[in-house]
Amino acid sequence: MNHLPDRTIVHLDLDSFFVSVERLKDSRLKGVPLIIGGKGDRGVVSSCSYETRKFGVSSAMPIRLARQLCPHATVISGDFEAYAQYSQLVTDVIREDAPLYEKSSIDEFYIDASGMDRFIGCWKWASALKVKVLRESGLPISFGLAANKLVSKVATNEAKPDGSMQIPRGREGEFLAPMPVWKIPMIGTQTSQSLMHMGVSRVIELRDIPKDVLQRVFGKSGLMLWNRARGIDESPVVPYSEQKSVSSERTFSQDTIDVYFLRSVIVKLTEKIAFQLRKQHKLSACITVKVRYSNFDTITRQEQIAYTASDKLLARKALALFDKLYDRRLLVRLLGVRLSHLVYGGHQIHLFDDTEKELDLAQALDSIRYKYGGGIIHNARAVCY
Ligand SMILES: [Mg+2]
Repeated sequence: MNHLPDRTIVHLDLDSFFVSVERLKDSRLKGVPLIIGGKGDRGVVSSCSYETRKFGVSSAMPIRLARQLCPHATVISGDFEAYAQYSQLVTDVIREDAPLYEKSSIDEFYIDASGMDRFIGCWKWASALKVKVLRESGLPISFGLAANKLVSKVATNEAKPDGSMQIPRGREGEFLAPMPVWKIPMIGTQTSQSLMHMGVSRVIELRDIPKDVLQRVFGKSGLMLWNRARGIDESPVVPYSEQKSVSSERTFSQDTIDVYFLRSVIVKLTEKIAFQLRKQHKLSACITVKVRYSNFDTITRQEQIAYTASDKLLARKALALFDKLYDRRLLVRLLGVRLSHLVYGGHQIHLFDDTEKELDLAQALDSIRYKYGGGIIHNARAVCY
């Protein structure tokens, strides 16, 4: 039995956010099929307008394929500075009105509106907030209102674009039942495919699979699947606080002058914090390298860079900074790397510069890091950047 007090959660999600920002910057792009992402023919779709979706274009798809599907679309690479600014603007509007909110990505928010009012009052309040966001930022936003985060997010997705939807308390399972399983957040392509092999394509079919079977097939996520199929989600709204930087340092047990070793440590430190960045769906525009010598002299060097969370680009930068710094050939006691000027970015953005092959490799490495922890695996090539 559910022993938690009743909650009311509002999930808000800006409609094709990057596209909307580009259209605010240049009104000639209104109504034009628009794809954002990539560099020339390389990279992946970061965001696409609704006009392109009916041709089968979707986010994370290779740009080359998107161009084939929708040859008349305008393709532009992103302007993350502008996206970060507009995201901040919307965050400010929400902060003003919301008692407790979580910013779960650059364009998505959860608000815990429990006890603020009765359910109907929350609906009116959220509707007013939607209008206010559009008025103050020029950006269309959709929302879903439900008893938990999971169901509110699915409701928003169903309401999009420029819509709103309320799922009455107690009707969560009924709302999800007819949907294809991929509509449940956190059910990715792999899980969908495994379920397909079990003969499950809709949520209602997923509900027929016994708990112990799901746990046997999917391990720890089996229980989550069982709960989600029933619209159960007790995860809390985590209050938002802005993290200014991520950093990592290593002090050596014995001071060293071995440049090859020092360079390999720089790469490992950089990969570790770049992974933290990607976990938070963030990008950095400034990298700092610190060297402390055995006599405790400490020198740092920093450089502004184009927004990225890519291991490859950041490690290359960090090594270049280290090479400039370390010219005294003295014993080194400590090395540090820090990434600052952080902004939220879609998880695909940092891969603009990568080919699909690199993208697959990077994602495979990250999934291992998620499983076993960030420090477990490093690019062997990394040391040679
Ligand atoms: Mg969005």
